[in-house]
Amino acid sequence: MSTRSLLILPGDGIGPEVMAEVRRIIDWFGETRGLAFEVEEDLVGGAAYDMHGTPLADATMAKAQEVDAVLLGAVGGPKYDDLDFSVKPERGLLRLRKEMDLFANLRPAQCFDALAEFSSLKTEVVAGLDIMIVRELTSGVYFGEPRGIIEDGNERVGINTQRYTESEIARVARSAFELARRRSNRVCSMEKANVMESGVLWRQVVQEVHDAEYPDVELSHMYADAGAMQLTRWPRQFDVIVTDNLFGDLLSDLAAMLTGSLGMLPSASLGAPMANGRPKALYEPVHGSAPDIAGEGKANPCACILSFAMALRYSFDEGAEADRLERAVESVLAKGVRTADLMNAEGRAPASTREMGDAVLAALDASV
Ligand code: NAD
Repeated sequence: MSTRSLLILPGDGIGPEVMAEVRRIIDWFGETRGLAFEVEEDLVGGAAYDMHGTPLADATMAKAQEVDAVLLGAVGGPKYDDLDFSVKPERGLLRLRKEMDLFANLRPAQCFDALAEFSSLKTEVVAGLDIMIVRELTSGVYFGEPRGIIEDGNERVGINTQRYTESEIARVARSAFELARRRSNRVCSMEKANVMESGVLWRQVVQEVHDAEYPDVELSHMYADAGAMQLTRWPRQFDVIVTDNLFGDLLSDLAAMLTGSLGMLPSASLGAPMANGRPKALYEPVHGSAPDIAGEGKANPCACILSFAMALRYSFDEGAEADRLERAVESVLAKGVRTADLMNAEGRAPASTREMGDAVLAALDASV
């Protein structure tokens, strides 16, 4: 029997509140579906700083390298705003991403029918939307050298460098093609090959990887600015979008907002396969620690629950069980159970974090 190990890092603010609901769901899969997980819990972010004086202890980092998947809640909060940059809560998260070498950031933009009204776009444009943005996460203009602000003559110059190696492009392209094969088998690669040499190389390498290894996947190329327009005009034309760090940062936020609320958005960051064939992996909701509602039992746990669904699919190859969990969330929303972030003006009393968890568990029970 293969083991499934998880490191849970609830973090700060609403992180522990939403993660408590995920823990109950993990237990449900163990008890009801025979999917046992070895779960360890540890500190990250401000919580780790309070205990250890660092936002991620070395021992926690070592555990993260050993487990099949890390599930993180959220980090940060006003209490830590004045800390030195080197020990800010966010540094814990950045250290995890960097040392695990998580180069492919997966951000699904999926619109549940029951929430189509929360999109800023017309319902008929977003209903049924299901796209996946794969953003390169460890290179590009956020990391390239030279960088800095220098004096040049009598004025200052700000410098950043967009730099991509062939292997960096090829590995994230492979992630996108592999994902497409599990979905609708289409990849659209976005860059600015019209004005950037790094974009020219990006386009060439993605095409080469496609032709040599994934000829069965339908590949198209688009300039990233046109991609942004197409995402708002007709988003359902896309299946998987693969793009670099900078464009991915912008396009994934744009696509996410097509679907409505921050409280619904999961993400995964994947690295190279480990000895057991599973990729290094970190799953986390897109939202932050929401200090304005922390401790009030109001947070929507769905983004964190859907992040666990991504772990079922991408770390544990349990696609059918991931579908089951996603359908459970969808059915709860369809019944009108909503946390406060998803209430419209004339809505009934909002569900608490715990009540939302209860409703998802009831839907899971009804699914077997
Ligand atoms: P945020 O995502 O925490 O909150 C933005 C708004 O959305 C708030 O009004 C909040 O109440 C609401 N919201 C977010 N998640 C929600 C949920 N699950 N249910 C209901 N409402 C929800 O972003 P922010 O306010 O800009 O940042 C707050 C703190 O979180 C900062 O310290 C920031 O650095 C940190 N942060 C952490 C991460 C992370 O851990 N990955 C990401 C973004 C921000």
